[in-house]
Amino acid sequence: MKPDKFAGPILALALAACASAAQPPKSLRLYVFNCGSLDIPDTTPYRLKKEDLATTFMSAPCFLVAHPKGTMMWDTGPVPDSNFKPGAKTATLRYATAVKPLTAQLAEIGYKPSDITYLALSHFHWDHIGNSNLFANSTWLVRQKERDVMFTEPYSPRTEPANYRLLRNAKTIIIKTPDYDVFGDGTVIIKSAPGHSPGHQVLFLKLAKTGPVVISGDLYHYPEERARHLIPTTEFDPAQSAASRAAIEAFLKQTGAQLWIQHDFTANAKLKKAPQYYE
Ligand SMILES: [Zn+2]
Repeated sequence: MKPDKFAGPILALALAACASAAQPPKSLRLYVFNCGSLDIPDTTPYRLKKEDLATTFMSAPCFLVAHPKGTMMWDTGPVPDSNFKPGAKTATLRYATAVKPLTAQLAEIGYKPSDITYLALSHFHWDHIGNSNLFANSTWLVRQKERDVMFTEPYSPRTEPANYRLLRNAKTIIIKTPDYDVFGDGTVIIKSAPGHSPGHQVLFLKLAKTGPVVISGDLYHYPEERARHLIPTTEFDPAQSAASRAAIEAFLKQTGAQLWIQHDFTANAKLKKAPQYYE
């Protein structure tokens, strides 16, 4: 027998063991992943002309919250990892392009999708749910109205039901309160902000060094929408969107939190990306 006969498999096993060896951090961390960008074909639903915008592109990030008591994914990008063909540098879906699979970005910081404790989605639109099937073993944190719209036919054209179909049977916690304190210590709070979709939500994080941050979901898309107080024409309930924006803006003032607009291409480009993290 050649001595190296088992070297390959053993090395693979050792690497797999390392890859799942992420230890819980001592304090809260936030990892930002590049889950792609959106080449918006038409900006008129945002009541903005091309010349009103710094760029028509939108970023489509995903986030991992690592807490001493567990982990939570926030949004899963537009493009499923399975759309990466062997050897291809990019993958696409509709008008989104991804440059690196989410699974590979998680592996770089020592996580497998099956390690992740919780999955929370800002909302059910296609550009936020692309890799949700990877997290079918996590506990899904969702509001009843959002879950209903996801699994009631006819499906909305604004989503890709195949990309979250495994969540139907995932362990699920239905959030029944406006605020949901994920780890029970006030550092990771999912906040109701309906209007863009029936059960749309944003994420509040209390980071020790960075300070408080609110991750927007699609409360806004372009930063110009916030500056000009524009509600897109395609909201599920525009009056609700306006009320949610007012409530979250008041919350930002009260807490001094930064607002990170997920789709803000320019602001997102400046964020540290995994393996770096915010703490
Ligand atoms: Zn979006």
